[in-house]
Amino acid sequence: MADTLVKGQRSAVTGQDTPMLELNAIDSGYAGTVVVRGISFRVPRGAAVALLGANGAGKTTTLRTAAGLLRPVKGQVLLDGEDVTRMSASRRAAKGMCLIPEGRGIFPSLTVRESLILYGRRGKAKDTVDRAVSAFPVLAERLSQVTGTLSGGEQQMLSLARAYVTEPRIVLVDEASIGLAPLIVDQIFEFLAQLLTESISILLVEQYVGRALELVNQVEVMEHGTIVLSGKPAEIDESELSRAYLGTDPSLTQDGRTIDGSAATAQC
Ligand code: ATP
Repeated sequence: MADTLVKGQRSAVTGQDTPMLELNAIDSGYAGTVVVRGISFRVPRGAAVALLGANGAGKTTTLRTAAGLLRPVKGQVLLDGEDVTRMSASRRAAKGMCLIPEGRGIFPSLTVRESLILYGRRGKAKDTVDRAVSAFPVLAERLSQVTGTLSGGEQQMLSLARAYVTEPRIVLVDEASIGLAPLIVDQIFEFLAQLLTESISILLVEQYVGRALELVNQVEVMEHGTIVLSGKPAEIDESELSRAYLGTDPSLTQDGRTIDGSAATAQC
């Protein structure tokens, strides 16, 4: 029965062609105010989709709706072919959906090791820590350190590693690179590329547009709560993309010096 599936299993009624995540005509928002309208797109199995757009375009609202933190007023969310629209965020997480929120969502008083074990499989503490360290080796030197004292880059790596130890099927990543040094951003994008090699799907909200375009298979551009442009990275018209960012110079979108800016706990 689809409802009793656990991570790593595939629904008997779905197959390779079933998208890992599908949003169908979603209207969603806050306290009766709809801020995203008619949002439809798919994240294929093992593929990455970037959700781009200016500040306030509705990207975080879309991710939170996909993850189950917001209930849409209209439309459907399908996870591996199963309608999860009315399912809680924690049940979606148990089925392999992991939201990595902007702001990292760490518990500052826990050590790195404790934070990882909290999210890893029960009774598998060593495996959990090994998996996290394989993703971000620097964490090996920080295991006993309280997370609130980590650098911003280390906190972001912990946030990503914590998602990884849940063995997700899809990760929803909200502005993971914001405010970080280029070398750390490189490591984050290497990690995301590694997820794809493991057939973990990605829905990415990212300020470094050029970097996002290199990683993903599909781009969805949002403006004022709706999707205004969709396509493969090579098909996306740079000037249209810039227009969606309200007059941004296209060269800036390419080298990643622009665009966004805007918090929560990890949901997985
Ligand atoms: P940013 O890149 O700045 O994070 P975004 O594209 O992720 O922007 P959202 O955070 O989804 O955009 O915001 C979309 C709209 O919803 C904005 O007008 C914002 O003011 C509004 N909004 C966001 N969070 C809330 C909230 N908790 N309550 C009410 N309105 C909100």
